[in-house]
Amino acid sequence: MANLGIPQNTIEVLQKYHFNFQKKYGQNFLIDTGVLDRIIAAAEITKEDCVLEIGPGIGTMTQYLAEAAREVVAVEIDKALIPILEDTLSAYDNVIILNEDILKVDINGIVQERNGGQPIKVVANLPYYITTPIIMGLFEQHVPLKSITIMVQKEVADRMQVGPGTKDYGALSLAVQYYAKPEIVANVPPNCFIPRPNVGSAVIRLTRYEEPPVQVRDEQKMFALIRASFNQRRKTLVNGLGNASNLQVSKEQAAQALEQMGLSPTVRGEALTLEEFAELSNLLF
Ligand code: SAM
Repeated sequence: MANLGIPQNTIEVLQKYHFNFQKKYGQNFLIDTGVLDRIIAAAEITKEDCVLEIGPGIGTMTQYLAEAAREVVAVEIDKALIPILEDTLSAYDNVIILNEDILKVDINGIVQERNGGQPIKVVANLPYYITTPIIMGLFEQHVPLKSITIMVQKEVADRMQVGPGTKDYGALSLAVQYYAKPEIVANVPPNCFIPRPNVGSAVIRLTRYEEPPVQVRDEQKMFALIRASFNQRRKTLVNGLGNASNLQVSKEQAAQALEQMGLSPTVRGEALTLEEFAELSNLLF
């Protein structure tokens, strides 16, 4: 099968199968060989690797992954794409196509079955409507993985990478940075896709930490604390935490913990680093 990174080849496949793009599935297919090469290089795929691809579409990136990896497991929700994938990937015997919803399938089960529970690499041009639940699902379910190299909306890539004191900083930044080291690899304009998305995109690589960068007694409590702090961004941290019914922390307890940490009683959540959230969580819980 011809290289689908070349626009004409993608158009031929779409026409052959009379494919209708489903907006609800965030379908924007890559048509740029340069971008595809950069994703594969950034993911550092080798013949040892088992790769999970989320949303293979018509199999464009899957072809590149199949060339580089030992095995590719591609999970695609759209039933209409399955016969197309069977055609475009027929030359490869190291690709497994699963017609499943990535948010419902047992990813740990896949890793156990296909890679003996050893860490996999995740590579994807993600459907943008579910970027955050996909990433958080991979981390929170403790899927054994080395890295996640993904195309996301540019603004979301920025949010994953920034630190305190910027408008993009929030619960996603802290969650990603607790589990992984983020690095933006490339910015990708809309004309690299068919159809063109109406936002800019970026490729980001998240390299999983073996040990988290901070020590926290209760991870779940720390993330509940972080979410409560950013739910009410304009409020002081003391008020935000005092108002969060799920935390059972009084304003007085919050104020006392901040004082112990040498922070101002009027500080806002957006000013705290991951280290400070971990310390606050350890003091409160
Ligand atoms: N990888 C292809 C490419 O780069 O050309 C397609 C990327 S497109 C941005 C996202 C793909 O994810 C689509 O094929 C879409 O059908 C699929 N998708 C959307 N939601 C999904 C879900 N919940 N589970 C699995 N795949 C999904």
